[in-house]
Amino acid sequence: MNRGIHPSGIRRIFDRARELERGGRRIVHLELGRPHRGSPEAATRAAVAALRAGMVHYTPNRGLPELCERIAARCGRGVEDVVVTSGGSEAVAAAVLAILEPGEEAIVLDPAWPHYRGHIRLASGIPVHVPCACDDGFQPDPERVAAAITRRTRMLIVSSPSNPSGAVIEPARVSALAELCVEHDLIALSDEIYAGFLYDAARHHSIAAEPHMAERTVVVDSCSKTWSMTGWRVGWALAAKPLAEALNVVHQHLGVCAPAFAQAGAIAVLEDGADHARTMRAEYDERRRTLIAELAGADAVCLHPPAGAFYAFPRVDAPSGLAGEQVAMRLLENAGVATVPGSVFGRQFAAHIRLSYAVSSAELAEGLDRLRAFLG
Ligand code: PMP
Repeated sequence: MNRGIHPSGIRRIFDRARELERGGRRIVHLELGRPHRGSPEAATRAAVAALRAGMVHYTPNRGLPELCERIAARCGRGVEDVVVTSGGSEAVAAAVLAILEPGEEAIVLDPAWPHYRGHIRLASGIPVHVPCACDDGFQPDPERVAAAITRRTRMLIVSSPSNPSGAVIEPARVSALAELCVEHDLIALSDEIYAGFLYDAARHHSIAAEPHMAERTVVVDSCSKTWSMTGWRVGWALAAKPLAEALNVVHQHLGVCAPAFAQAGAIAVLEDGADHARTMRAEYDERRRTLIAELAGADAVCLHPPAGAFYAFPRVDAPSGLAGEQVAMRLLENAGVATVPGSVFGRQFAAHIRLSYAVSSAELAEGLDRLRAFLG
């Protein structure tokens, strides 16, 4: 009935956290993949004005022309390359549904956002998971990727910076992955929705910029994380003409268009949201440093320092040999800290937990205190 799509393992944690809160417990939420700040005032003002002006109907499928123009200008692309969608999620789903024929394979670099697998399954495709080793900084190993390619492989999904590991793929590895795409005639899906959150010397290097890749890459981005607008549901895909057209046909059937007044808000942040994005990045960088420093002192934790996004993905050697989801569950029950079990992001990562540091500094400090006490 469900095409191999299952409720995510995160659900059990959410539900239990809510239950504990109803019973009066205070829970520190380090599980949420959303920025703690509100949306930019400019977006709110523009959306309210749009509502008052009666912008309450469908827009063109590909999005309001002014929004498409701003996105194209921001990315140095043609306006015909842009398809505005209901968040990056719909862009990923539309791309996968447009590209994969039933039975074709798509390579996912684990640990990965679980929706990729879900979208591939929705398309009756086959997800092929290639793990990126924690000891290698969660960088993809092009040789392992090459070994996973078969006659049926059609897509490679790349996400940098990564949810959940925070890894930013090194330029040499991006080039090696691009060469594989060209050699094996694969389409790359490059999920860049965390590209606004890069730290230290990390630089974002899009696979779309590699030789011969512009015509075989779908880039996905969104207002959700960059401007703290997860509920607005505005994202977009960028692709060369034939791909963009195929994707738009799916989008016409799937989401029709992103909400009209939310698109008006997106226009405002693309024009005027740089300060808001910079402030958030600086805050998260400070929290990231705190988190790295605190976890460095914990013997039971092995953390590869994240260079992007706002997540950390430590391996936790928990007390009394607990494994996998049990660690996250016990952490919640005993210490009142909600995290996401690593198994959600890939079978090989059951010993990890994902922590989000897109929270207030007080919340992060309390969460880390409780985590340390739990680990003993
Ligand atoms: N890609 C990744 C890696 C994500 O983590 C998310 C959201 N958590 C998305 C895409 C989609 O975000 P949205 O639909 O809100 O734009």
